[in-house]
Amino acid sequence: MILPKAARLTPEQLIEVTQIVESSGCRVQPIVGTVRTIYAIVGDERDELMINRIEGLPFIERVDQIQSPHKLMDRRSDLATHRITLGGVTLGEELLIVAGHCTIDPKNPQLFYESAQAVKEAGAHVLRGGVWKPRTNPYSFQGDAKSLDILLEAHRRTGLPVDAEVMDETQLKLAIEAGVHMLQIGARNALNYSLLRNIGRAVADRDTVVLLKRSLHMGPINEFISAAEYIVAFGNPNVILCPRGTAPTLDGYRNHPDESITPLLKEKTWAPVVVDPSHSVGKAAYVPACALAAVAYGADGLCIEAHVQPSKGIGDDPKQALTPDQLAETISQAKQIWALRHPSKVASA
Ligand code: PEP
Ligand code: MN
Repeated sequence: MILPKAARLTPEQLIEVTQIVESSGCRVQPIVGTVRTIYAIVGDERDELMINRIEGLPFIERVDQIQSPHKLMDRRSDLATHRITLGGVTLGEELLIVAGHCTIDPKNPQLFYESAQAVKEAGAHVLRGGVWKPRTNPYSFQGDAKSLDILLEAHRRTGLPVDAEVMDETQLKLAIEAGVHMLQIGARNALNYSLLRNIGRAVADRDTVVLLKRSLHMGPINEFISAAEYIVAFGNPNVILCPRGTAPTLDGYRNHPDESITPLLKEKTWAPVVVDPSHSVGKAAYVPACALAAVAYGADGLCIEAHVQPSKGIGDDPKQALTPDQLAETISQAKQIWALRHPSKVASA
């Protein structure tokens, strides 16, 4: 990792650095952070001559060689100072709430507009709405591109930034063109490296945020962090980790709740953690407790399915969506737990 003395390299300086790096068979990848740009060396960065030549340049502060399977995501990386801001919330400074339908019903846009307004009033900062849906049964409703227009109309009406899952390149292109603010990578695709690569490339020059869910079958924590790094390595560090329950299921719950991994993630990576309690426990009655536990474990935010009339919803909403009142109550309690964990941030607010 190359750290310049100034906030970023000038184009001429970048050319000079690139020539050195490429002559050692590596490549330079700028990573644009909020405050400064740093430059990853992609390839074998242990070449001593290359490092000496770069460190000898008068405009270079140092070359960091963090020994970690995911150097960019490591807490010791210079990206650790990067902050992600969405919906007026800077992660780490305030609890981020993402809420909305599991799935937008293209035949009933009004219901989504009502939920959008209701989750805003309940305190959500970002509106979620599934446009395309991964399903357990391929013959179930898989979503409809028409719902993208409904999502954007809800954004116009409420002013909330919007979040939708994309599962392939066509959906990715449409979502990027539409200006979707947060792209969700679902649990089924968290290990789909070609999708991760395409998303990384697509958001490289944008401020789009990516919410990476934890795969049902991810084992060691490093697998999750490395998947996030694969996206960040293309140049946009706005990646959030989202535990959402894993396999095998805990009898009675939809998945095995995994909000307790947050302290482990935080020990290794600077990436913010936004927990999804809805898919973790899979039943509205259990969601508030899981949400509060997630915040107690150190989550920076929550992603919760919510609906004005869950029984009229499609997708997961009839089973696991909270009503706006339940959402408001959960947010209020979650904020109290967050305040206990971050007394200095609350005092200075
Ligand atoms: C969802 O958010 O509606 C969803 C399908 O989530 P996951 O990928 O976690 O199953
Ligand atoms: Mn869902």
